[in-house]
Amino acid sequence: MRDQLRPVLAAVLALVFPGLGHLILRRWGRALLWHLTIVGGGVALLTLYDVETSSGLTTPVEAAEAAAAFPSEVTIPIALITVLSSIDAYVVGRADAVARERVDATAEAVRRRAASADDDGAAAAPVTETVGEDGDSMRVECPNCGKETDAELDFCHWCTEPLPWNDAE
Ligand SMILES: [Zn+2]
Repeated sequence: MRDQLRPVLAAVLALVFPGLGHLILRRWGRALLWHLTIVGGGVALLTLYDVETSSGLTTPVEAAEAAAAFPSEVTIPIALITVLSSIDAYVVGRADAVARERVDATAEAVRRRAASADDDGAAAAPVTETVGEDGDSMRVECPNCGKETDAELDFCHWCTEPLPWNDAE
């Protein structure tokens, strides 16, 4: 149940504060990247359009009023990037939840297999089963990092390790 709420929570938090959604997903690099993109983008746009920013902003309300006074050339791109980061947080959170379910299911299967026949070492076989879900794309587990990745890719988009089944063919 918590796994299903986490992506939504991450998406909401990503809207509240740049990078916060990815922080609760423990995606430190992505959190930093989004934070720098949104904050840095905002600063760059403000500089580009030469917007006056007063340094006496002490309360969130004052900051929000100041932000509302920014020209749309600044606010619209920042809003778009923030929404993108929110969507990314949701997608990453969902992928994490699916991967955790997969790991749980795999661990359960390995336990059962080990319990029924623990003489041939079958339980130690790497998990590279291919399962069709989410419609057409085939999802597989990366043997390097264990995260779910697309079977049609040449490399894992999580850890960038080459995927062995595509090297072979
Ligand atoms: Zn990987």
